[in-house]
Amino acid sequence: MSPATPRHADLLITGGRLIDPANNIDATSDIAILGGQVVAVGAAASAMTARRAIDAAGAIVAPGFIDMHVHCYEWVTNFGVPPDAAGINAGATTIVDQGSSGAWTLGGFKAYIADPAKTDVRAFVSINVAGALQGGMEGTTLHNPRMVDFTAFADIATQHPRLVRGIKCHGESGGFSHWGTEVLGRAAECGRALSLPLYVHTGELFPVDEASRPAPSSVMAQVVPFLKPGDVLAHVYSNMPDGIMSVHESVPSWLHEARAAGVLFDLGHGINFSFAIARKMLDAGIMPDTLGSDVHGDFCAYHDFSILDYSLIGGLNKMLGLGIGLPDAVRALTATPARVLGDPSIGHLGVGARANITLLREVEGSWSFLDSRRERLVVPRRLLPDLVVIDGSVITPDCGLLADVMRSDERPRGITRGSTLGTVLQRQEGS
Ligand SMILES: [Zn+2]
Repeated sequence: MSPATPRHADLLITGGRLIDPANNIDATSDIAILGGQVVAVGAAASAMTARRAIDAAGAIVAPGFIDMHVHCYEWVTNFGVPPDAAGINAGATTIVDQGSSGAWTLGGFKAYIADPAKTDVRAFVSINVAGALQGGMEGTTLHNPRMVDFTAFADIATQHPRLVRGIKCHGESGGFSHWGTEVLGRAAECGRALSLPLYVHTGELFPVDEASRPAPSSVMAQVVPFLKPGDVLAHVYSNMPDGIMSVHESVPSWLHEARAAGVLFDLGHGINFSFAIARKMLDAGIMPDTLGSDVHGDFCAYHDFSILDYSLIGGLNKMLGLGIGLPDAVRALTATPARVLGDPSIGHLGVGARANITLLREVEGSWSFLDSRRERLVVPRRLLPDLVVIDGSVITPDCGLLADVMRSDERPRGITRGSTLGTVLQRQEGS
């Protein structure tokens, strides 16, 4: 024990398999927490006493998971989920909203979503000033070049440096058919000027002007020249013809080059995920750098999560089922997204780190997942979130949004649909 190590902790987590890729740890180890921070790991922690101890024998203890891609501007967008439902109640201590807010709507996102949430909420702010207020079909209204205002973006990035961690933009057929790469180019300029990473959506999303539809395999080739090291391409295993794998039979050469140049790839699971494409790309060595979920509600109704059939934890289990090793998957949920967010206090459990922890337990028994093409993947066991610690506070996640990976009787509270505003809107439509 170093002289600086205190003798008493608030919380000891003992006997778990600690997987902390940033610190090269994968071993049975105790961990001690005091004042919301990690104060000791290993033998130094074992030597301490604590007000509360959690027996984690048989469990996996990991740095708090970071979900790089959620949509949680609830009520303002028509597809936002409650932040804590996507965060601590789904096994993630930090979540990153991808583009729900723009420079003009970030204030509301901060005041009504990020600040009140127990989860650590960050934002990649949309390059358009309004944000993605409605699902993809409103793309041509919201995401056109006239909605880009560099000064407004620079102002909010300067005012809220902890919240604003990057820029959300799009590289897909709809936008390119209307405006070419103009909006993406402006986002890239903004990213370079402010030293912020881009998170680029891939795969057709906005309405396409058919007269100017780009060839599917040409879309990514137009995107890549705008990227800098540290930028992130989303939906790596998407089955969309204009997506990353596109219509190619083997991984295109630009992808290996972009990777070598420091471009990152997020799972961005969402609704277009394909096992067949995942297998092809994994065979070629393309593992996602981060495992963002893209959790969002139904585009057609406010506060309706009844069709949601994917999650961060579901994505983790699918990746393990496809053969990725657990430490690699944990790295993609912790150390790497923390690097994207530029925050050295999260994503690891070294002494001095924020006491953010995701504790998982293994449940034996087969479970089957379906992808967007209705292909099935059967796994022999599941890893499920058992406890979450955020800044030293212990929370039992309600797993309300984890319908893809947990039976309803395994989830303390399932969230589906029905809400006061939802009801009011339906009543108004009916009247
Ligand atoms: Zn998304």
